[in-house]
Amino acid sequence: MGLEIPDGDPPVAIDLDRGTGIRFEWADGTASTFTLETLRANCPCAQCRSERERGITPWPKSSLIEQELRVTDAELVGNWGLQITWHDGHSTGIYSWGVLRAWAGLDG
Ligand SMILES: [Zn+2]
Repeated sequence: MGLEIPDGDPPVAIDLDRGTGIRFEWADGTASTFTLETLRANCPCAQCRSERERGITPWPKSSLIEQELRVTDAELVGNWGLQITWHDGHSTGIYSWGVLRAWAGLDG
């Protein structure tokens, strides 16, 4: 099974608010802003993908519902995406530029 890497140019700017959301500014002058809830609920890692396939929303989880969603760390992965570490230690999701661009408008 090969690693699937969607095409996408990297953003020219990333504005991370650890308690609110992330804003990506793209080379063509457009920008995409996502709330942390949207990013976490759509986490592209295998675990969250399989949860969604079974009809489970990766976030919020009832066991963690009283915890506020926060980003503790965000790291560039090569030239193709952003790895986000969440307050609960979840960090397996890598958000590729192509996926983030495809999600534009998800948060209005
Ligand atoms: Zn995940």
